Amino acid sequence: MSKIPVGILGATGMVGQHFIKFLDGHPLFELAWLGASERSAGKCYTDAAKWHLGGSAPDSAARLTVSDSKPGNVPKLVFSAMDASVATEIEQAFAAAGHLVVSNSKNHRMDRDVPLLVPEINADHLKLIAGQQANRGWKGAVVTNPNCSTIVLTMALAPLVQFGITRVVTTTLQAVSGAGYPGVPSMDILGNVIPYIGGEEEKIQQETQKILGTFAGDHIAPLTAKVSAHCNRVAVIDGHTVTVSVEFSSQPSEADLRNAFETFRAIPQERNLPSAPKFPVQYLPEADRPQPRKDVERERGMVCFVGRLRECPVFDWKFVALGHNTVRGAAGAAVLNAELLHSEGLLG
Ligand code: NAP
Repeated sequence: MSKIPVGILGATGMVGQHFIKFLDGHPLFELAWLGASERSAGKCYTDAAKWHLGGSAPDSAARLTVSDSKPGNVPKLVFSAMDASVATEIEQAFAAAGHLVVSNSKNHRMDRDVPLLVPEINADHLKLIAGQQANRGWKGAVVTNPNCSTIVLTMALAPLVQFGITRVVTTTLQAVSGAGYPGVPSMDILGNVIPYIGGEEEKIQQETQKILGTFAGDHIAPLTAKVSAHCNRVAVIDGHTVTVSVEFSSQPSEADLRNAFETFRAIPQERNLPSAPKFPVQYLPEADRPQPRKDVERERGMVCFVGRLRECPVFDWKFVALGHNTVRGAAGAAVLNAELLHSEGLLG
Protein backbone atom coordinates (compact mmCIF):
# COMPACT_ATOMS: atom_id res chain seq x y z
CA MET A 1 0.00 0.00 0.00
CA SER A 2 1.42 3.41 -0.91
CA LYS A 3 2.13 5.81 1.94
CA ILE A 4 0.24 9.04 2.62
CA PRO A 5 2.24 12.14 1.60
CA VAL A 6 2.69 14.69 4.38
CA GLY A 7 4.14 18.18 4.69
CA ILE A 8 5.75 20.11 7.55
CA LEU A 9 5.28 23.82 8.15
CA GLY A 10 8.22 25.23 10.13
CA ALA A 11 10.37 22.36 8.87
CA THR A 12 13.69 24.16 9.40
CA GLY A 13 13.14 24.85 13.13
CA MET A 14 13.89 22.74 16.17
CA VAL A 15 10.49 21.04 16.34
CA GLY A 16 10.41 20.73 12.54
CA GLN A 17 13.62 18.73 12.76
CA HIS A 18 12.08 16.46 15.37
CA PHE A 19 9.15 15.93 12.98
CA ILE A 20 11.56 14.96 10.20
CA LYS A 21 13.41 12.55 12.48
CA PHE A 22 10.22 11.03 13.93
CA LEU A 23 8.63 10.58 10.48
CA ASP A 24 11.71 8.98 8.93
CA GLY A 25 10.71 5.40 8.04
CA HIS A 26 7.13 5.91 9.27
CA PRO A 27 4.90 3.03 8.09
CA LEU A 28 1.95 5.25 7.03
CA PHE A 29 3.35 8.69 6.25
CA GLU A 30 5.93 9.84 3.74
CA LEU A 31 7.59 13.24 3.79
CA ALA A 32 6.71 15.05 0.55
CA TRP A 33 6.83 18.78 1.28
CA LEU A 34 8.71 21.14 3.60
CA GLY A 35 7.65 24.71 4.32
CA ALA A 36 9.35 27.58 6.16
CA SER A 37 9.74 31.34 5.82
CA GLU A 38 10.66 33.24 2.66
CA ARG A 39 14.22 33.29 4.02
CA SER A 40 14.42 29.52 3.46
CA ALA A 41 12.13 29.09 0.45
CA GLY A 42 13.81 27.87 -2.72
CA LYS A 43 16.82 26.42 -0.89
CA CYS A 44 17.52 22.73 -0.57
CA TYR A 45 16.74 21.60 2.98
CA THR A 46 20.33 21.12 4.07
CA ASP A 47 21.19 24.67 2.96
CA ALA A 48 18.11 26.17 4.62
CA ALA A 49 18.37 24.40 7.97
CA LYS A 50 21.25 23.96 10.37
CA TRP A 51 20.63 20.41 11.67
CA HIS A 52 20.64 20.45 15.49
CA LEU A 53 19.88 16.80 16.23
CA GLY A 54 22.29 13.85 16.30
CA GLY A 55 23.76 12.70 12.96
CA SER A 56 22.66 14.47 9.79
CA ALA A 57 19.30 15.28 8.25
CA PRO A 58 17.62 12.11 6.93
CA ASP A 59 17.57 11.66 3.13
CA SER A 60 13.77 11.97 3.24
CA ALA A 61 14.28 15.68 4.01
CA ALA A 62 17.70 16.33 2.51
CA ARG A 63 16.38 15.56 -1.00
CA LEU A 64 13.58 18.17 -0.73
CA THR A 65 13.57 21.88 -1.54
CA VAL A 66 11.96 24.17 1.02
CA SER A 67 8.83 26.03 -0.10
CA ASP A 68 7.25 29.19 1.22
CA SER A 69 4.29 28.56 3.51
CA LYS A 70 1.38 29.00 1.15
CA PRO A 71 -1.27 26.37 0.41
CA GLY A 72 -1.29 25.07 -3.13
CA ASN A 73 0.66 22.09 -4.31
CA VAL A 74 0.95 20.73 -0.76
CA PRO A 75 -0.18 17.38 0.74
CA LYS A 76 -3.57 17.31 2.46
CA LEU A 77 -1.98 16.39 5.82
CA VAL A 78 0.37 19.07 7.11
CA PHE A 79 2.18 19.13 10.43
CA SER A 80 2.85 22.57 11.85
CA ALA A 81 5.87 23.63 13.91
CA MET A 82 5.89 27.30 13.02
CA ASP A 83 6.95 30.23 15.09
CA ALA A 84 3.90 31.25 17.14
CA SER A 85 4.10 34.80 15.76
CA VAL A 86 3.04 33.56 12.30
CA ALA A 87 1.17 30.31 12.99
CA THR A 88 -2.34 31.73 13.40
CA GLU A 89 -2.80 33.13 9.91
CA ILE A 90 -0.83 30.49 8.04
CA GLU A 91 -2.53 27.54 9.76
CA GLN A 92 -5.93 29.11 9.08
CA ALA A 93 -5.07 29.65 5.41
CA PHE A 94 -4.12 25.99 5.05
CA ALA A 95 -7.27 24.78 6.84
CA ALA A 96 -9.43 27.03 4.67
CA ALA A 97 -7.77 25.55 1.58
CA GLY A 98 -8.75 22.02 2.67
CA HIS A 99 -5.65 20.87 4.56
CA LEU A 100 -5.72 18.99 7.83
CA VAL A 101 -3.27 20.97 9.95
CA VAL A 102 -1.91 18.94 12.86
CA SER A 103 -0.33 21.71 14.87
CA ASN A 104 2.18 21.85 17.63
CA SER A 105 1.90 25.61 18.10
CA LYS A 106 0.01 27.20 20.95
CA ASN A 107 -2.07 29.52 18.75
CA HIS A 108 -5.31 27.52 18.34
CA ARG A 109 -5.13 25.18 21.34
CA MET A 110 -7.71 27.00 23.43
CA ASP A 111 -10.07 27.89 20.57
CA ARG A 112 -13.54 26.65 21.49
CA ASP A 113 -13.95 24.59 18.31
CA VAL A 114 -10.41 23.17 18.05
CA PRO A 115 -9.51 19.76 19.52
CA LEU A 116 -6.60 19.84 21.99
CA LEU A 117 -5.87 16.22 21.48
CA VAL A 118 -4.09 13.48 23.41
CA PRO A 119 -5.30 10.31 21.68
CA GLU A 120 -5.09 8.21 24.83
CA ILE A 121 -7.26 10.70 26.73
CA ASN A 122 -9.78 12.50 24.57
CA ALA A 123 -10.06 10.98 21.09
CA ASP A 124 -13.77 11.88 21.19
CA HIS A 125 -12.83 15.60 21.14
CA LEU A 126 -12.27 15.09 17.39
CA LYS A 127 -16.04 15.54 17.16
CA LEU A 128 -15.33 19.31 17.41
CA ILE A 129 -14.05 19.23 13.83
CA ALA A 130 -17.53 19.15 12.27
CA GLY A 131 -18.51 22.34 14.13
CA GLN A 132 -15.15 23.96 13.37
CA GLN A 133 -15.66 23.42 9.65
CA ALA A 134 -19.26 24.67 9.83
CA ASN A 135 -18.37 27.75 11.94
CA ARG A 136 -15.43 28.82 9.86
CA GLY A 137 -16.45 27.61 6.41
CA TRP A 138 -13.28 25.52 6.19
CA LYS A 139 -12.90 22.41 4.04
CA GLY A 140 -9.93 21.38 6.18
CA ALA A 141 -9.37 21.64 9.92
CA VAL A 142 -6.88 22.41 12.69
CA VAL A 143 -6.09 19.88 15.40
CA THR A 144 -3.58 20.69 18.14
CA ASN A 145 -1.42 18.93 20.71
CA PRO A 146 -0.70 20.34 24.16
CA ASN A 147 2.16 22.26 25.65
CA CYS A 148 5.13 20.00 26.40
CA SER A 149 4.62 20.05 30.20
CA THR A 150 0.84 19.81 30.02
CA ILE A 151 1.02 16.53 28.15
CA VAL A 152 3.15 14.95 30.88
CA LEU A 153 0.77 16.12 33.59
CA THR A 154 -2.40 15.10 31.75
CA MET A 155 -1.10 11.66 30.80
CA ALA A 156 -0.30 11.04 34.47
CA LEU A 157 -3.67 12.38 35.64
CA ALA A 158 -5.84 10.68 32.99
CA PRO A 159 -5.86 7.26 34.70
CA LEU A 160 -6.88 8.97 37.97
CA VAL A 161 -9.89 10.97 36.68
CA GLN A 162 -12.13 8.03 37.65
CA PHE A 163 -11.42 8.81 41.33
CA GLY A 164 -12.78 12.36 41.06
CA ILE A 165 -9.89 14.83 40.89
CA THR A 166 -10.74 18.04 42.76
CA ARG A 167 -7.41 19.89 43.13
CA VAL A 168 -3.95 19.58 41.60
CA VAL A 169 -0.72 21.39 42.43
CA THR A 170 2.17 20.73 40.07
CA THR A 171 5.77 21.94 39.91
CA THR A 172 7.69 21.53 36.66
CA LEU A 173 11.42 21.03 36.09
CA GLN A 174 11.67 21.76 32.38
CA ALA A 175 14.50 20.91 30.02
CA VAL A 176 16.31 23.57 28.01
CA SER A 177 15.31 21.95 24.68
CA GLY A 178 11.75 23.13 25.41
CA ALA A 179 12.94 26.67 24.66
CA GLY A 180 13.94 25.77 21.08
CA TYR A 181 17.38 26.57 19.61
CA PRO A 182 19.56 28.32 20.81
CA GLY A 183 17.13 28.65 23.70
CA VAL A 184 18.33 29.70 27.15
CA PRO A 185 21.88 31.15 27.25
CA SER A 186 24.31 28.73 28.92
CA MET A 187 25.46 31.46 31.35
CA ASP A 188 21.88 31.70 32.63
CA ILE A 189 21.11 28.00 33.03
CA LEU A 190 24.31 26.13 33.95
CA GLY A 191 24.37 25.53 37.70
CA ASN A 192 21.07 27.37 37.99
CA VAL A 193 17.28 27.13 38.15
CA ILE A 194 15.13 29.79 36.47
CA PRO A 195 11.76 29.98 38.25
CA TYR A 196 9.88 31.63 35.37
CA ILE A 197 8.81 30.52 31.87
CA GLY A 198 6.57 33.14 30.30
CA GLY A 199 2.94 32.04 29.87
CA GLU A 200 3.70 28.45 30.82
CA GLU A 201 1.80 28.26 34.12
CA GLU A 202 -1.40 29.59 32.55
CA LYS A 203 -1.05 27.14 29.64
CA ILE A 204 -0.71 24.15 31.96
CA GLN A 205 -3.64 25.23 34.10
CA GLN A 206 -6.05 25.90 31.22
CA GLU A 207 -4.96 23.16 28.82
CA THR A 208 -5.20 20.48 31.52
CA GLN A 209 -8.82 21.36 32.20
CA LYS A 210 -9.67 21.30 28.48
CA ILE A 211 -7.88 18.02 27.74
CA LEU A 212 -9.49 16.22 30.67
CA GLY A 213 -12.84 17.90 29.97
CA THR A 214 -15.93 16.46 28.33
CA PHE A 215 -17.23 16.91 24.77
CA ALA A 216 -20.41 18.99 25.07
CA GLY A 217 -21.76 19.41 21.53
CA ASP A 218 -20.00 22.51 20.22
CA HIS A 219 -17.29 22.88 22.91
CA ILE A 220 -15.42 21.08 25.66
CA ALA A 221 -16.79 21.43 29.19
CA PRO A 222 -13.56 21.76 31.19
CA LEU A 223 -12.65 19.48 34.05
CA THR A 224 -13.85 21.32 37.13
CA ALA A 225 -10.74 20.47 39.19
CA LYS A 226 -8.58 23.44 40.18
CA VAL A 227 -5.04 23.24 38.80
CA SER A 228 -2.09 25.31 40.05
CA ALA A 229 1.29 25.15 38.28
CA HIS A 230 4.78 26.39 39.22
CA CYS A 231 7.19 26.30 36.26
CA ASN A 232 10.99 26.16 36.40
CA ARG A 233 13.69 25.83 33.73
CA VAL A 234 16.49 23.50 34.83
CA ALA A 235 19.83 22.41 33.35
CA VAL A 236 18.50 19.23 31.71
CA ILE A 237 18.74 18.76 27.93
CA ASP A 238 15.64 16.65 27.19
CA GLY A 239 12.77 15.62 29.46
CA HIS A 240 10.28 17.60 31.50
CA THR A 241 9.77 16.34 35.06
CA VAL A 242 6.61 17.32 36.94
CA THR A 243 5.89 16.76 40.62
CA VAL A 244 2.18 16.47 41.34
CA SER A 245 -0.03 16.61 44.47
CA VAL A 246 -3.66 15.55 43.92
CA GLU A 247 -6.85 15.74 45.94
CA PHE A 248 -9.75 13.40 45.15
CA SER A 249 -13.46 13.43 45.93
CA SER A 250 -13.24 9.68 46.67
CA GLN A 251 -10.67 7.86 48.79
CA PRO A 252 -8.56 5.73 46.44
CA SER A 253 -5.92 3.54 48.06
CA GLU A 254 -2.29 3.40 46.91
CA ALA A 255 -3.10 0.07 45.26
CA ASP A 256 -6.05 1.65 43.39
CA LEU A 257 -3.81 4.38 42.01
CA ARG A 258 -0.94 2.04 41.12
CA ASN A 259 -3.37 -0.26 39.37
CA ALA A 260 -4.90 2.67 37.47
CA PHE A 261 -1.47 3.79 36.21
CA GLU A 262 -0.36 0.30 35.29
CA THR A 263 -3.47 -0.81 33.42
CA PHE A 264 -4.14 2.45 31.56
CA ARG A 265 -4.67 1.77 27.87
CA ALA A 266 -6.86 3.52 25.33
CA ILE A 267 -7.81 3.81 21.65
CA PRO A 268 -4.22 4.15 20.28
CA GLN A 269 -3.27 0.91 22.02
CA GLU A 270 -6.49 -0.89 20.99
CA ARG A 271 -5.99 0.19 17.36
CA ASN A 272 -2.26 -0.51 17.50
CA LEU A 273 -1.39 2.92 16.07
CA PRO A 274 2.23 2.88 14.86
CA SER A 275 3.58 5.45 17.34
CA ALA A 276 1.52 4.33 20.32
CA PRO A 277 3.48 2.71 23.14
CA LYS A 278 2.00 -0.54 24.47
CA PHE A 279 1.42 1.11 27.84
CA PRO A 280 1.34 4.94 27.61
CA VAL A 281 1.84 5.42 31.36
CA GLN A 282 4.46 3.27 33.05
CA TYR A 283 5.04 3.17 36.79
CA LEU A 284 8.67 2.83 37.93
CA PRO A 285 8.86 1.32 41.43
CA GLU A 286 12.45 2.38 42.25
CA ALA A 287 12.59 5.11 44.91
CA ASP A 288 14.68 7.48 42.78
CA ARG A 289 12.94 7.21 39.39
CA PRO A 290 11.92 8.47 36.88
CA GLN A 291 15.02 10.48 35.92
CA PRO A 292 15.48 12.35 32.61
CA ARG A 293 18.94 10.94 31.93
CA LYS A 294 17.95 7.33 32.58
CA ASP A 295 14.38 7.18 31.36
CA VAL A 296 13.44 9.85 28.86
CA GLU A 297 14.68 8.10 25.69
CA ARG A 298 12.99 4.78 26.52
CA GLU A 299 10.04 3.65 24.36
CA ARG A 300 10.98 6.19 21.63
CA GLY A 301 10.15 9.00 24.06
CA MET A 302 6.40 8.30 23.81
CA VAL A 303 5.71 7.11 27.37
CA CYS A 304 4.87 9.13 30.49
CA PHE A 305 6.91 7.57 33.31
CA VAL A 306 5.46 7.89 36.82
CA GLY A 307 7.04 7.10 40.17
CA ARG A 308 7.31 7.97 43.87
CA LEU A 309 3.58 7.58 44.60
CA ARG A 310 3.08 8.39 48.28
CA GLU A 311 0.63 10.03 50.65
CA CYS A 312 0.46 13.82 50.67
CA PRO A 313 -0.18 15.43 54.08
CA VAL A 314 -1.85 18.43 52.43
CA PHE A 315 -3.75 16.85 49.54
CA ASP A 316 -4.33 13.07 49.25
CA TRP A 317 -1.52 11.65 47.10
CA LYS A 318 1.63 12.88 45.40
CA PHE A 319 3.92 11.50 42.71
CA VAL A 320 6.50 12.38 40.03
CA ALA A 321 6.04 12.13 36.23
CA LEU A 322 8.47 12.51 33.32
CA GLY A 323 7.99 12.85 29.56
CA HIS A 324 10.09 13.67 26.50
CA ASN A 325 9.26 17.30 25.73
CA THR A 326 10.24 17.38 22.08
CA VAL A 327 8.86 13.91 21.29
CA ARG A 328 5.75 13.20 23.40
CA GLY A 329 5.50 16.95 24.02
CA ALA A 330 5.83 17.98 20.37
CA ALA A 331 6.56 15.97 17.19
CA GLY A 332 5.63 12.48 18.46
CA ALA A 333 2.38 13.81 19.92
CA ALA A 334 1.37 15.39 16.61
CA VAL A 335 2.26 12.29 14.59
CA LEU A 336 0.15 10.17 16.96
CA ASN A 337 -2.68 12.67 16.48
CA ALA A 338 -2.39 12.21 12.71
CA GLU A 339 -2.39 8.43 13.12
CA LEU A 340 -5.64 8.78 15.09
CA LEU A 341 -7.12 10.97 12.31
CA HIS A 342 -6.13 8.28 9.80
CA SER A 343 -7.69 5.51 11.89
CA GLU A 344 -10.90 7.58 12.09
CA GLY A 345 -11.00 7.82 8.27
CA LEU A 346 -10.50 11.60 8.40
CA LEU A 347 -7.53 11.77 6.02
CA GLY A 348 -9.67 10.90 3.00
P1 NAP B 1 12.15 27.58 15.81
O1 NAP B 1 13.30 26.66 15.92
O2 NAP B 1 12.37 29.04 16.01
O3 NAP B 1 11.49 27.35 14.33
C1 NAP B 1 10.51 28.21 13.83
C2 NAP B 1 10.08 27.78 12.44
O4 NAP B 1 9.09 28.72 11.98
C3 NAP B 1 11.20 27.78 11.39
O5 NAP B 1 11.03 26.70 10.50
C4 NAP B 1 10.97 29.10 10.67
O6 NAP B 1 11.45 29.09 9.32
C5 NAP B 1 9.47 29.16 10.67
N1 NAP B 1 9.00 30.52 10.40
C6 NAP B 1 9.40 31.67 11.01
N2 NAP B 1 8.80 32.73 10.43
C7 NAP B 1 8.01 32.25 9.45
C8 NAP B 1 7.14 32.82 8.49
N3 NAP B 1 6.97 34.16 8.43
N4 NAP B 1 6.49 32.01 7.64
C9 NAP B 1 6.65 30.67 7.70
N5 NAP B 1 7.47 30.05 8.57
C10 NAP B 1 8.14 30.82 9.44
O7 NAP B 1 10.98 27.17 16.82
P2 NAP B 1 10.69 25.74 17.53
O8 NAP B 1 11.37 25.66 18.84
O9 NAP B 1 10.89 24.65 16.51
O10 NAP B 1 9.13 25.88 17.86
C11 NAP B 1 8.15 25.85 16.82
C12 NAP B 1 6.77 25.90 17.43
O11 NAP B 1 6.56 24.77 18.26
C13 NAP B 1 6.54 27.13 18.30
O12 NAP B 1 5.21 27.56 18.11
C14 NAP B 1 6.75 26.60 19.71
O13 NAP B 1 6.05 27.33 20.67
C15 NAP B 1 6.20 25.18 19.59
N6 NAP B 1 6.74 24.21 20.54
C16 NAP B 1 8.08 24.07 20.75
C17 NAP B 1 8.54 23.07 21.60
C18 NAP B 1 10.01 22.84 21.85
O14 NAP B 1 10.32 21.90 22.59
N7 NAP B 1 10.91 23.62 21.25
C19 NAP B 1 7.66 22.20 22.23
C20 NAP B 1 6.31 22.36 21.99
C21 NAP B 1 5.87 23.35 21.14
P3 NAP B 1 12.87 29.80 8.91
O15 NAP B 1 13.96 28.83 9.32
O16 NAP B 1 12.76 29.94 7.44
O17 NAP B 1 12.94 31.09 9.66
